[in-house]
Amino acid sequence: MNQLQQGVTHRTNFINGQWVDSEQCIEVENPATGELIGTIACATSQQVDEAVSAARQCHELRLMADMAPYERMQLLHAIAAQIRALAKQGGELLCLENGKPLSKAEWEFEEAARYFEYYAGMADKIEGKSIPLGEGLVDFTEYEPFGVSAQVIPWNFPVSLVARSLAPALAAGNSVVIKSPELTPLAVSLLAEAIVKAKVPPGAVNIICGYGHEAGAALVSHGDIDQIVFTGSVATGQSIMQAATEYVVPCVMELGGKSAGVVFADADLDQVITSAEVGNLFNSGQVCSAMSRLIVHESIYDEVKQRLVTSFAAKSVGSGKDEADVTPILTQAQLDKIVAMCAGAKAQGAKCLIGGEALLRTGYFMPPTIIEAAVDTEIAQQEVFGPVLVLMKFDSEQQAYAMANGTDFGLVAGVFTQNVSLALRASRALVAGQVFVNEWFAGGISTPFGGVGKSGFGREKGQEALYNYVRTKNIAIRLTP
Ligand code: NAD
Repeated sequence: MNQLQQGVTHRTNFINGQWVDSEQCIEVENPATGELIGTIACATSQQVDEAVSAARQCHELRLMADMAPYERMQLLHAIAAQIRALAKQGGELLCLENGKPLSKAEWEFEEAARYFEYYAGMADKIEGKSIPLGEGLVDFTEYEPFGVSAQVIPWNFPVSLVARSLAPALAAGNSVVIKSPELTPLAVSLLAEAIVKAKVPPGAVNIICGYGHEAGAALVSHGDIDQIVFTGSVATGQSIMQAATEYVVPCVMELGGKSAGVVFADADLDQVITSAEVGNLFNSGQVCSAMSRLIVHESIYDEVKQRLVTSFAAKSVGSGKDEADVTPILTQAQLDKIVAMCAGAKAQGAKCLIGGEALLRTGYFMPPTIIEAAVDTEIAQQEVFGPVLVLMKFDSEQQAYAMANGTDFGLVAGVFTQNVSLALRASRALVAGQVFVNEWFAGGISTPFGGVGKSGFGREKGQEALYNYVRTKNIAIRLTP
């Protein structure tokens, strides 16, 4: 019997290499049906303490920090292999709790394995510098792990995002406490099985679940953590940054977005439409780097609009089990928020070309939606986190940049043109951590990713991200004559 057929599953927290239950538990539902599919132990504040102490002890014993770099590399490869072996079971669980297509849920485990392989390759290449100071002095830098890395994860790509932060943290020799998302914690908890099978030292990886305002807040305000890596909403990021001030804990902040694609007059429209489908509808728009705005040159605006409406109207809406193009929104509350934002847009004079209302059926389904809206409306400024594309028109290049850059966010941006010089000029003019030219989501594990403005700071992915997880120590030696 597979996860899609069996009944309610119960998972526990993972602290110091042990499975630990709790009196309270959190219920997890299937967003396609509203049915209960599982429960997970809800970590108490004492368990948060225990997880931090286990990570601290692992670090004090130098179990990860002093492991030979090639052994750390081998350990990460072993984790990758174990995660890959979980893809089928874990993919089914993730499809159920998150609603995403089964194939994409299984792919998250594959992607997670690749994060471990990528950073395995860096584990033995974390090298310092020698700095010449003249006769009688030797000076060099070393990169040392922070110690205890506290990582708070959102629900939209939970398995992949755990791997994105955990793999480089371990490669650099840290111990980690992960606070998994309370809305989709089940597949993440399976990762602990890979950690056990790969023989990761006890305390090096701890995975706890709990509500954000309880377990999450207890973790990020804990006096014995050395860094915070947060992926989630701006509001939560702001509250975590405030908590971090007490012990002056360094943070990486991967927050939300309102990313725009700019379509110039010479763009290949097939690339534009494919990018809009993938960029806006992937994971039902529940993606931080979704294409949520498309700013189109007036000379091709009507054609792009008509093609987009035709394309979005043809998408199937249904469950992840059925591999629908657009799968459910995670919760009723999030669906209500999306519908309210669409209604608010219409009240502000925006024109809804397609969609805009929830589907009247069991589960939390929002159809693909395209809205023509003015640049200063809420729908054009704030993150919707759903399959809603805001369409806008420009005439001059400068106007396009002003519109694209005119929000508080700056996560990614897109440029569509056949002109390389224009593509480069536009890429530099757009305020974002990453710019996609002619293909939304171009790039991957090896390309640095992160925000500007309210989209956050620090970079994940790529070689650069590894240096989030180390600090530089300079050692200056006066040689005795
Ligand atoms: P969220 O901020 O509501 O929750 C994220 C995590 O923070 C959860 O684990 C939650 O329990 C925890 N949390 C909540 N309050 C907390 C507190 N006071 N202290 C500590 N932890 C707390 O976000 P979400 O709804 O899970 O995810 C959606 C958001 O995440 C969107 O804004 C999206 O753009 C963003 N996101 C960003 C990236 C990125 O890489 N930039 C990736 C994925 C999602």
